[in-house]
Amino acid sequence: MDSRPARYAVIGNPVAHSRSPAIHAMFAQQTGQQIDYGRLLAPLDGFLAAVQTFRAEGGHGLNVTVPFKAQAFDYAQRHTPRAAVAGAVNTLVFQADEVLGDNTDGAGLVSDLQSRLGVSLHGARVLMLGAGGAARGVVQPLLEAGVGQLSIANRTPARAEVLCAEVSARIAPEQARRIAAISLAQAHGRFDLIINATAAGLSDAAPDIRPELLSHAAVALDMVYAAQPTAFMRLAHSAGCPRIEDGLGMLVGQAAESFALWRGVRPDVAPVYAALRDALAAH
Ligand code: NAP
Repeated sequence: MDSRPARYAVIGNPVAHSRSPAIHAMFAQQTGQQIDYGRLLAPLDGFLAAVQTFRAEGGHGLNVTVPFKAQAFDYAQRHTPRAAVAGAVNTLVFQADEVLGDNTDGAGLVSDLQSRLGVSLHGARVLMLGAGGAARGVVQPLLEAGVGQLSIANRTPARAEVLCAEVSARIAPEQARRIAAISLAQAHGRFDLIINATAAGLSDAAPDIRPELLSHAAVALDMVYAAQPTAFMRLAHSAGCPRIEDGLGMLVGQAAESFALWRGVRPDVAPVYAALRDALAAH
């Protein structure tokens, strides 16, 4: 029997900043699993070659990050239902006879909201800002969790419409009735939860929405995480939103889903989240 640790990695470009190796090392230690989890920087035109080499060298699975999630979807021979709806894959499992593709982002977000933050999603009115890959990955898991209404508002409204149309075609009609595409300017009224799934925070900007939306919301969550509050979090704070969170819990949650899929053991996310939060604050 092969006694070497099972090999995993996160593949992306760039990938040096990824916290996934630290997260999976903590999960492995906690659960007594023998794994070797590294970083794989693939050239922008070299995703396929890098994956094939990793597999040929005995790799067991990969996490996939920007900009390769769509290529990972094409590479997988079979998809979990949630990856099929998302049209994007962030977890590859190299099985003996086939490659399975999953998307764990939505499950990570939902478990962070429900378990760590104690947010009830059943019947909730949710506004999601953004219509890129991250938004696409979380739509169905939010609907599965019982969200009553999910409005998707994007800077480029046509992209939100395409997202809604494509996702609607792949989910049950009852779920499709609960999602709608709108523009940022059309977003008004009361929402229980506002999720920022845009990349605006990476350039320290916030999406251009009416601040009073955030005054009325019970929770505002930015998928981006950082040592300091993002521009969206600062906007939510000045609007008086009572609960403001970043995307660190989602990050740990999606990693836990991948780990469970690969190793058949579900790690405890709480100590890992706490360790990462401390490490972020120390920077
Ligand atoms: P993406 O596919 O490139 O999509 C970017 C989205 O952001 C688009 O909807 C884009 O709108 C919007 N956007 C960019 N700059 C904006 C601005 N200044 N104002 C308003 N909207 C703006 O990116 P993605 O993969 O969806 O990722 C989005 C964010 O989520 C990233 O910051 C990523 O780090 C984060 N994320 C976090 C986790 C986690 O585990 N915490 C997981 C996945 C992603 P247009 O269509 O108009 O360009």
